[in-house]
Amino acid sequence: MPGAAITVTTTAVTAVLAACAALSLVVACVSRYPSRPAIAAVGSLAVMVFVPAIPLGRTSGVELHVLDVGQGDAILLRTDAGRWVLFDAGPAWNGSDAGRRVVIPYVLRRGGSLESFVLSHPHNDHVGGAASVLSAMHPHTYWDAAFAGGAEAYIGSLAVARNKGIDWHRVHPGDSIQIDGVTVSFLAPDSIWTVGLKDPNLASTIALVRYGMVRFLLVGDAERAEEDWLLARHAQLRADVLKVGHHGSSTSSSDEFLAAVHPALAVISVGAGNKYGHPSRDVIHALALVGAEVLRTDEAGTIVVRSDGVRIEVEANGEKWELVRDSSRR
Ligand SMILES: [Zn+2]
Repeated sequence: MPGAAITVTTTAVTAVLAACAALSLVVACVSRYPSRPAIAAVGSLAVMVFVPAIPLGRTSGVELHVLDVGQGDAILLRTDAGRWVLFDAGPAWNGSDAGRRVVIPYVLRRGGSLESFVLSHPHNDHVGGAASVLSAMHPHTYWDAAFAGGAEAYIGSLAVARNKGIDWHRVHPGDSIQIDGVTVSFLAPDSIWTVGLKDPNLASTIALVRYGMVRFLLVGDAERAEEDWLLARHAQLRADVLKVGHHGSSTSSSDEFLAAVHPALAVISVGAGNKYGHPSRDVIHALALVGAEVLRTDEAGTIVVRSDGVRIEVEANGEKWELVRDSSRR
């Protein structure tokens, strides 16, 4: 039933407001003059509903939040105006999903609106939470490589997008999203490449995020064949931060690709004790050889990278430090 459920932040303020609303309703029910407590109850509920839409003040740059969703990906980009872009929405499991359990509460706690959703590819560990996020947060746009995958969660997410009037866009190399001074450029895939493919990983959406002089490269579960495709097209791959492909699997992160990206920080989104053996030791070694600091969500939990367009600060494991992005490394 429309409006029967409301989305609120899970904070102490919300708990106090909920208590006020409940108490006021009880008083309104037993009082001879119920209008004042009834207004107080409605007022408390209204504040609970609108608090999540208020950004918690401007921050001074761009933020990349690599969420800990177990085995899967869900990466949030936040602009200085408190607007968000979500890349993948984590896995679904029996009865729930990472969209509902992790992504939505994470954004609601920090305030602001979700502007766009970008799907790397239609595997459950990336698209599982998408329908929940789209129906709760209705972003304006949904970007996706349109690789015909039969995953139920993917089809469900498209149905929600259609019902909510969310604009769906097929990613083409050269397309971009401009938001509050941040540019998200799509480097791959194109339809000539994807038409001959069977594996959705190889049709992963590749997104390059630029803010000032700082660049983040998000590659979904791209494997070596797609990396070679990018290298053959001389795509501008250099980035300060790389979201490592395919959870650190040895199917991805070729030496040539890592040399082209030359990241100062490599982030691996991976579940503890996963059955695939991700991340591969060889990939960790290869990342070390190009001089990248490596962080993993199974060890560090959610990882946050902040930048003013020049300097980069990393926050993980309750610690903050500045990333060395000396141009002499290039
Ligand atoms: Zn995956």
